Amino acid sequence: MLLFTPGPTPVPERIRQAMAVPTIHHRTPEFTKIFKETRRALISFLKMDDAVVLASTGTGAMEGALTNLCGRKALIVNSGKFGERFVEIARAFGKEVVELRYDWNEAVKLDDIREAMEENPDIDSFFIQICESSGGLRHPVEEAAALVKALNDEVVVVADGITAVGVEPIDTTHIDALIAGSQKALMLPPGLAMVGLSTFAISRLGEGRGYYFNLAKELRKQREGTTAYTAATTLIIGLREVLKILMEEVGLDELYDQTDRRATATRLALEAIGFQLYPQKPAPAMTALYDEDAEAIRKLLKSRYGVNIAGGQGELKGKLLRINHMGLIEPYEAVWVVNALELALEDLGRRSYDGTAVRIFSQSYYKLLGE
Ligand SMILES: *Cc1c(COP(=O)(O)O)cnc(C)c1O
Repeated sequence: MLLFTPGPTPVPERIRQAMAVPTIHHRTPEFTKIFKETRRALISFLKMDDAVVLASTGTGAMEGALTNLCGRKALIVNSGKFGERFVEIARAFGKEVVELRYDWNEAVKLDDIREAMEENPDIDSFFIQICESSGGLRHPVEEAAALVKALNDEVVVVADGITAVGVEPIDTTHIDALIAGSQKALMLPPGLAMVGLSTFAISRLGEGRGYYFNLAKELRKQREGTTAYTAATTLIIGLREVLKILMEEVGLDELYDQTDRRATATRLALEAIGFQLYPQKPAPAMTALYDEDAEAIRKLLKSRYGVNIAGGQGELKGKLLRINHMGLIEPYEAVWVVNALELALEDLGRRSYDGTAVRIFSQSYYKLLGE
């Protein structure tokens, strides 16, 4: 079965092999050496001043960023489940929230940010998804972050990059905390989260807040080559290997280019056979399609064609198809997915199969279109 859900993503054989080692103790010089190498690579990969690695899923890093970097009042963009999650975390910790709420296919409007910040001069932190995975939407995060800083440079900007880091180039100039998770573009098993930090964010951590997700304490320990609590040693070994593959062997420009070509080719192929893109501004991490037959199509893909793609969540349950583009994916796997979707349309009597999806994908991916 091809796993084409936008998280978790498949773990390549080489990364599985790298993790197939006996468990080592985390308070040892061997682990410190591995951890220091991993941190060095991670900080450069994230393009941030420093970073902490947490043994948790991405939501733990969202919680840690919020509890450590929001003082009293947060401005939060909510265009889907994950934006809503920031709102819920903030409320769970008694923070005041100014929420900018949109439909799940609609990106944040800069004028709304300006208005909210002018009306609420006591906002001290700003939270946004780079890609809101509920609808596959790309927010204009770089512009939003620059605007927030221009209006008040004391506001901490937190970007959830869980489906953007390792997917596309991100301009981190005005981002203070950049969140990543293991099971999306980093192609690792679930269980590890990362927060890249700017010098400004670090100055805001102070003595730290909270207990397990105390980022000041973690950062202090991690700068010494260890972690506050037992490190997720095996996942960290996997992370070191992934970063080596992505940064040294494939190269980040090549990774981003391949991902973009795969996303573009998939969209052209699927639009050509009548599918409708859902988000107004799609992120390269995934293709989200709005379709009334979404559940029937997903079932056919799984039972007849060996492909597992994701559906919609919350209010879009049963109405969306979400196809992953994150990670290193062979074009011959991606082309099978669009082919399976075309076959499913014939099964449903919506279109007679003629191989259009495969042809358009291949022409577009290999840039033959129009030549
Ligand atoms: C997957 C995801 C998360 C984190 O989810 P976990 O299940 O806690 O790992 C957060 N934000 C976005 C945008 C995501 O796609």
